[in-house]
Amino acid sequence: MDRRKIRWNGWGWNEAHDELSGRAELWTWLARELGMPTLLATPARELKDIALPKSRLRDEERTAFINMLGAEQVRSDDYERAFHALGRSYHDVLRMRAGDLTTAPDLVLYARNQADVLAVLAYASERGIAVVPFGGGTSVVGGVTAGHGNFGAVVTLDISKMDRVLDVDRISMTAEVEAGIYGPALEKALQAQGLTLGHYPQSFEFSTLGGWIAHAGAGQQSNRYGRSSDWIVSATLATPRGVLATDNHPASAAGPRLKDMILGSEGAFGVITQARVRIHEAPAKKVYTGFLFKDFQSGAEAIRTAVREDVPSAMLRVSDADETRVYRTMADIGKPHGLKATLTERFLALRGLDVAPAALIAGFEGDADEVAEALKHFDKIAKRLGALSVGQSMGKRWYEGRFHGPYMRDPMMDRGVGVDTLETSTSWSNIPKLHRAVTTALHTAIAETAPRPGARGIVMGHISHSYPDGASLYFTYIFPRQLDGEVAQWRKIKKAASDAIAANGGTISHHHGVGEDHLPWIAQEKGELGIAVLRAIKHTLDPKGILNPGKLIPD
Ligand SMILES: Cc1cc2nc3c(=O)[nH]c(=O)nc-3n(C[C@H](O)[C@H](O)[C@H](O)COP(=O)(O)OP(=O)(O)OC[C@H]3O[C@@H](n4cnc5c(N)ncnc54)[C@H](O)[C@@H]3O)c2cc1C
Repeated sequence: MDRRKIRWNGWGWNEAHDELSGRAELWTWLARELGMPTLLATPARELKDIALPKSRLRDEERTAFINMLGAEQVRSDDYERAFHALGRSYHDVLRMRAGDLTTAPDLVLYARNQADVLAVLAYASERGIAVVPFGGGTSVVGGVTAGHGNFGAVVTLDISKMDRVLDVDRISMTAEVEAGIYGPALEKALQAQGLTLGHYPQSFEFSTLGGWIAHAGAGQQSNRYGRSSDWIVSATLATPRGVLATDNHPASAAGPRLKDMILGSEGAFGVITQARVRIHEAPAKKVYTGFLFKDFQSGAEAIRTAVREDVPSAMLRVSDADETRVYRTMADIGKPHGLKATLTERFLALRGLDVAPAALIAGFEGDADEVAEALKHFDKIAKRLGALSVGQSMGKRWYEGRFHGPYMRDPMMDRGVGVDTLETSTSWSNIPKLHRAVTTALHTAIAETAPRPGARGIVMGHISHSYPDGASLYFTYIFPRQLDGEVAQWRKIKKAASDAIAANGGTISHHHGVGEDHLPWIAQEKGELGIAVLRAIKHTLDPKGILNPGKLIPD
């Protein structure tokens, strides 16, 4: 992975084609939707024009790191410090675009192996230097912000050079892999042997195995391949106190499983250096297909039924009416509205699918018979609930564009528009209430912080990870930025939505984690004793508290 080819202050490859720039109709439509007369050009500042804070590290400390790791692994140039200053949340990108690099680490260190990690942690503990573990840096909760906390200096410890597949056990179907490996490299190595982990978060191209485990994430096909808590067998954690290697038994009643403590530890307990993960035969067939339901609730009911009837899906994803409407408009706007489109609209109206329709993408992976059988079963459930099967072109479009969504954020941010996402999960019985509460909270907060009277936001939701007892809810909100106080605006909107989640039975995160951004809500969710337990674990593994200060556990 050549990091210089990745945007330091936005999403994706520097060379990625901006598909939206030539689509004038889309921008006119968006301005109208947001209640704005026009969208303003708001370009990002360039790195060469931004002054980075002076490094607080002493010369002797810098020399000690060079002696430890070699000069090539110790970086202090502006690009490296800027790239490692923050993650990739809307809040982070907003700050980077404005040239706020106050959290640039004093030094960036690359570890080549576990011995490097242990040496860095031991020295940093002794000298009182904060250490931020860093995989791909795609955290969207302020998980890699290089804050120095109460320490004099902070270094970011990047483990992306630890990227080898160490062992593949084809009999047990597990693999031992170094934690810094990027998603594409891991899948390439496994698929060369006809195997897959099947963990494809939307950030797949730029995130690492260690990051997936450290924030307990979920890939888009978690229904089939599981989330990280399902596929992790064991992990090795390098800490300031030494190495904690968890057992790799397939199941064990020998007390609580210590791997559960590493999942979601967010770099605050130690650095995951390698892990054994469950793998699968790469699927022979993948089918993604579309359905239209009369509303979000019927689509959610189809997913609930499919899970309860054990339909082996890879992904069942239903969008609410606004997400369905906005995605359809964004795809169609500017195209001629011909006879076919008019006839389709009439047909949908006849079927009652024109008022608040909800699009559902159903994905199935496996061998051909298994896929065909599952598709037939889901089709039956969907039709029982009045849905229309719209065929595989909609599913194919989703699959081909499954990593593209985030590339739309930068062009929007170039035009004074904010885009953020948040997510939660709750029981099936509570989905409607939580969906309503968060949608309302977001609309209200956006209107209250809008740059002009009458300006408003677009709030879209979907379900994409489902369980027998409940599901995730994911929200994307687009809003006109208050250019005089963009960070304060973001904070207000984020607080309103997070308060609504906490007050209406949701978790503060289904798969993004806690980081800095969700810290104000974690004490309520875990309880006083729960936080005390987390603190005790941290204190045992990291007595000086140097690891990722200000994340996961409130002071
Ligand atoms: C556009 C976009 C889409 C996303 N989609 C998804 C999605 O579909 N599903 C999902 O689950 N998440 C998603 N995320 C969130 C993010 O990508 C995940 O959190 C990702 O797994 C993080 O991996 P990373 O390697 O980038 O970790 P980083 O961002 O580098 O780190 C994340 C956290 O883990 C810690 N950490 C990283 N590596 C290690 C290690 N080896 N040992 C100990 N701690 C470590 C860091 O200190 C930090 O606290 C998305 C993010 C973006 C920006």
